[in-house]
Amino acid sequence: MFLKLYFILFVVYLCRVAAKGIWTLQAHNTQNMGKPKRIVVWFRQDLRIHDNEALDYALERGDEIIPIYVFDPRLFSGTSSYGFSKTGKYRAKFILESIQDLRQSFQKLGGDLVVRIGNPEEEVFKLANKVQASWVFCNRERTDEEIKVQDALERNLWKIGIELHYFRGKMLYYTQDLPFPVSHCPDVFTQFRKEVERFIPIREPLPSPTRITMPSDIALNYGDMPSMKDLGQEDFKCDARAAIQFKGGETEGLARLEEFIWEKDHLRHYKETRDGLLGANYSSKLAPWLSQGCLSPKKVYFEIKKYERKRVKNKSTYHLFFELLWRDFFRLMGKKHKNNIFKKGGIKEQVNPEWEDDLHRFKIWREARTGVPFIDANMRELKFTGFMSNRGRQNVASFLINDLKVNWQIGAEYFESLLIDYDPCSNWGNWNYLAGVGNDPRDDRYFNILTQAKRYDPNGEYVKLWIPELAEVPSKKIHRPDTLSFEEQEEIHVVLGADYPKAVVSPTRWTH
Ligand SMILES: Cc1cc2nc3c(=O)[nH]c(=O)nc-3n(C[C@H](O)[C@H](O)[C@H](O)COP(=O)(O)OP(=O)(O)OC[C@H]3O[C@@H](n4cnc5c(N)ncnc54)[C@H](O)[C@@H]3O)c2cc1C
Repeated sequence: MFLKLYFILFVVYLCRVAAKGIWTLQAHNTQNMGKPKRIVVWFRQDLRIHDNEALDYALERGDEIIPIYVFDPRLFSGTSSYGFSKTGKYRAKFILESIQDLRQSFQKLGGDLVVRIGNPEEEVFKLANKVQASWVFCNRERTDEEIKVQDALERNLWKIGIELHYFRGKMLYYTQDLPFPVSHCPDVFTQFRKEVERFIPIREPLPSPTRITMPSDIALNYGDMPSMKDLGQEDFKCDARAAIQFKGGETEGLARLEEFIWEKDHLRHYKETRDGLLGANYSSKLAPWLSQGCLSPKKVYFEIKKYERKRVKNKSTYHLFFELLWRDFFRLMGKKHKNNIFKKGGIKEQVNPEWEDDLHRFKIWREARTGVPFIDANMRELKFTGFMSNRGRQNVASFLINDLKVNWQIGAEYFESLLIDYDPCSNWGNWNYLAGVGNDPRDDRYFNILTQAKRYDPNGEYVKLWIPELAEVPSKKIHRPDTLSFEEQEEIHVVLGADYPKAVVSPTRWTH
């Protein structure tokens, strides 16, 4: 009897839901009947027109599109938990240049890019409302702060009957092509790599549009490009010693890809040079463009394949693909372990009691005053350019964590602020890894700084570039200035403890 009653109530409930759905759909369709389908495309870390899924779908489904980028003051003038600027000047300038380039691309296609300063959940909402958009499209982000913004926008749009549709575009692989759900992605890189690299094909990049149509019956204020000052940032001139003078934008990203792979043929020897420290070409330097989405990783992959067909297929060509796999892997770890990648215990949820929030030791590291030349040179490069090689990043991170015993999160936040190529999953994932709270099957990722310095900077050229006060130190003592006698110090006019600091950690620990 009761069962029957429940069944009838359930059927009534279903009918009401269905009726409401049909009504909403009809209301929406009547509202838009006869009007062109307008799609607002919200650009985020996908600052390109090639292989851009949100844009591609918008052009296919919409009659008119309205692209927008919003400079979020929380990112450009806000600070992180240890007080660093969330977006340092190097990345801020790179993003500004990227938006300028994106705008020019749309102008060439017969349209424009709407530019705003404000909270995206309000600015995109206002635009969608004004143009009576049918939908808003964007490429989905997967980390906490970005998710909060897209969720807030989704809620706002929902209130006026506009849906936010998500697309993908960060990785080489489509998650739906992977042989496992993200929640079952292996936590060990090698295992992940073996399960995907030989079995899962990478899809072709989507083509760039040739033309876009924007609404002609609405007066749109496209907005002026802000200056660095408008974003609360100080302008600067690039340090002449920088490995590369990075300039933001898809045009520059594609040009760098062309130069590195084809014009200068550096891909041929990439595996042998990748651990270098000096100059523009020991590694690809594609990271800033990949991080802001000025370059699609699929595009890079297909250029590697083309190079293999036309010039040579060797360990180096594979190795660039291998590094791009790391990038996908950390993105998947971010998706799988969510906010744990930002927490002290990392994805392993294991906190080492030795790590302290020691801001004094941190400051010495940050200001490149450790008295360990290899560490100080790398930290100066980061401070003066916003870039550091992968080898340098591994060494300075290990030094902060293992030698200075400082909480790794402070280092990761500092990197977040300074790095021109900052990417949440790659940065925090690598720090997790080096702190031993990530996915490393090896327990001890300790770097012997002296061995590393001698191997990767045997003549001290790198150290001398960034620490000119040590320029006269003989090469064989460059990584151990503590071994200079008083006479030698006098002769080369470097007094340890005055002209260059004495080491905060006894270098003898690396000689045993
Ligand atoms: C502590 C630490 C923090 C890091 N933070 C970031 C970051 O915020 N953003 C970032 O893009 N990379 C980060 N990396 C990875 C790596 O150091 C940089 O990608 C690389 O140095 C950039 O130079 P490149 O473009 O010449 O790289 P290449 O050596 O030419 O590599 C090609 C591309 O592969 C990807 N890649 C290479 N190594 C890694 C890696 N270990 N993890 C993820 N992707 C990789 C990058 O997209 C890079 O552009 C970090 C590494 C460490 C150790």
